[in-house]
Order: sequence, then C-alpha cells, then structure tokens
Amino acid sequence: IREIPGGVAALCARLRSAGWEAYPVGGCVRDLLLGRTPGDWDVTTSAMPEEVIALFDRTVPTGIRHGTVTVLTEDGGVEVTTFRAESGYADGRHPDAVTFGGDLTGDLTRRDFTINAMALGPDGAVIDPFGGQKDLQARLIRCVGEPGRRFREDALRMLRAVRFSAQLGFAVENATAEALRDNAELTACLSAERIRTELEKILLSQWPERGEGLFAWGLLAAFVGADAQPDLTTLHRVPARPLERWAALCALLLDEGSIRSAEEFLKDLRLDGRTVRACAAGAELVKTMPRGAAGWRHALAEHGADACTAAAAIGAAMMGGEYLRELAETLAEGSCLTVRELALSGAELAAMGYRGADIGAAQRRLLDHVLDHPEDNRPERLRELLN
Ligand code: ATP
Ligand code: MG
Repeated sequence: IREIPGGVAALCARLRSAGWEAYPVGGCVRDLLLGRTPGDWDVTTSAMPEEVIALFDRTVPTGIRHGTVTVLTEDGGVEVTTFRAESGYADGRHPDAVTFGGDLTGDLTRRDFTINAMALGPDGAVIDPFGGQKDLQARLIRCVGEPGRRFREDALRMLRAVRFSAQLGFAVENATAEALRDNAELTACLSAERIRTELEKILLSQWPERGEGLFAWGLLAAFVGADAQPDLTTLHRVPARPLERWAALCALLLDEGSIRSAEEFLKDLRLDGRTVRACAAGAELVKTMPRGAAGWRHALAEHGADACTAAAAIGAAMMGGEYLRELAETLAEGSCLTVRELALSGAELAAMGYRGADIGAAQRRLLDHVLDHPEDNRPERLRELLN
C-alpha cells in the first residue's frame, strides 16, 4: 500500500463507487516509487469528461479535447483524464485523432517511457506492464514500444528522454539512444518554444551534464553547429537559476565555437528580451572576466547587475576564484555606476555652458573617470576634471 494524499484517494474512491475505473498514473507513480514527493497528481479513468464533471462539485474543463478535467480537491487540482489511445501523428507533433474509451493498458501503452507508464491500483499495487519498476532500479530511460516509431509519432519525446535523464540522473537505454541518433532531425518540426522549455528544464535539473546527450545525438542541430559537443560537467556548480544556467551554456558553446553569438542563439530559442540581453552579456563577460573593483564597476555600468552576477557565478563555478566576492564587495560600495548618480547633474552641466550632445559626452567622460576613481564623485572635483 503506497501513501497517496487523502484528496486524491477520495477522488479515486468516488469514481470507483460510481462504477468507473480510476488510477493515479504517470509521473506521480514514478516519483512515489523513487521516494520523491510528486509535484502533481494525474488520474486516468474510464469515465468520460462529462461524467467526471457530473460527479464532482468543483471541476475545471482544462483540456476537454484531450479528455482532461481538473478536479479541485483538498490536495489541490488533480488532472483527471479519460483512458486514451492515439492514432497517427502525420506532423510528428499532434496526434491526428485522440480516441477515448480504451482501457488502462491501452492508456499506458501510449505513454512515452516505461518509468512514466505505471498506474496505482485500488489495493495500492503497482500496475506496470512495461517493466517501469525494473528500469527505475536500473536507472534507465526506455521507450514504451519501438523507440523509432514512438519518436516519429512525437518528436518532443526525444527531448523529454534527455530531460528525464537529467532530472533523475538516469542513463538512456541503448535502443532508445540509437533511435534518438537516427531520428534527431525530426526535432526540426518542433516549435522553438517547446524546445526551449525542455532545454530549460534540463539546464535547471540536478544532473545538467546529462544534457550532453542533446549534442551527442544532434537534437539541437537547428540551433548549434553540427560538431557542438560542450563539456557540461561543471554546469551543476553554477546556481540553478535560468539566467545563470543559460548564460553558462552560452559561454561553453561560444568557447568551442558552436554558436556565433549568444544573443542569436537565445533569440532563436525565443527567450524573453531581458534574459537574452543579460545572458548574452554575461556569457561575453566570461571570456575576459572583469578583475578588481574597477573592472567590475565598468562591467556593471556597461552590462548591468544581472549580466555581472551570471558572469561571476560562472567564473566561480568553472575557474574557481574570487569573482563572486569581488562583485558583492563592489556592489556593496554603492559607488556611482550611472550618469544619473554623478555628483554633477545634466542641468548643472547646462548651467556651465554645455549644450545638446556635449552634455551626454561630458557625462560619459566623467562616468568613465569615476568608475576608476569613485572617490572623485564630488561636484567640485568633477568641475575641475572638465577643465
Ligand atoms: P513532471 O514531474 O515534469 O510533471 P511528468 O511525468 O508528470 O513529469 P508530464 O509532462 O506532466 O510529465 O506528463 C504526464 C504524463 O503524461 C507522463 O508521465 C507520461 O506518462 C505522459 N506523457 C506526457 N507527455 C507525453 C508524450 N509527449 N508522449 C507520451 N506520453 C506523454
Ligand atoms: Mg506532470
């Protein structure tokens, strides 16, 4: 008997007492068997969505077309999905037809990996027709069914294979790995957003070095050079935040010449503008790490705190050294980093006779000086410097 939350157990009991089958399924079963706390609970059922809606007071039709209704329980929303079988994926992305009314085995057969294709029976027994428990023991990602066919049905599964391998620290089983290599070009039909989402999960995972598979198998061919093979072994030492991990990946790819520019790479993957700018600048800064307080002040003034934080974190993780301490001390100084913080304002410069573009030019000249000599940021000293 496995521990499942009361709300989820009550939901299943309710469906069963109405004559339907109902099983916790997929990721939550996998996580439970791994001794991890499941992030969310999914239930698969023989009931049709309308029948689920009729049975519970609080439901949200979150994906009726896919047979999914979210039932609100004391343990939060639980996605309840009607047994499904999918037939035909002409475009490698969306099933041509979703058919309902199959049985549990059919529903488990359509799932991607053996470790994701298990359900929990009413007695707490694990229903595991594809050897998911054995693969959990062996720490393997293995397709349900014939890997090549499963990847041709849905190319996203190729990225998911690497993602679960990185999140769990599992290896990819041989036949599955071979099919990844053979079908790598199919990832070209996926949207950049979906690729980015999976790649970000890999970057933020506990075993990001497993992401090397993406390159070894050629799954990112649309975004990086064909020979890209970055060494990701130091990535887990970089703080697991998007900015830092994306910038670190860019720095590694730039270093081996697999991308022309970090900005282009991140834009192609549809990252938001702010992340693109900070990561690209951070990755560039890593090439010639700022040194000393003055070095960091110039970098902060030019690229901002996010880019510098990323660069310092990457430098510390990959080269060792005092980058983070230096940056923290520099930020703590609170010294002038922008023209707005200069002790001489634009209005004062105008009063001194500066006009138009000359004001900006003078401000930049003063800032450049003050970044090297913060103690000079006093009105009389700045006036002196202008003469
Ligand atoms: P996570 O902890 O990231 O949510 P998860 O296993 O729950 O992991 P989901 O993407 O939420 O992953 O999918 C839920 C379940 O649906 C999976 O465990 C798997 O059984 C099935 N599934 C999801 N995407 C696919 C797919 N592309 N092809 C086949 N089955 C899939
Ligand atoms: Mg999930």
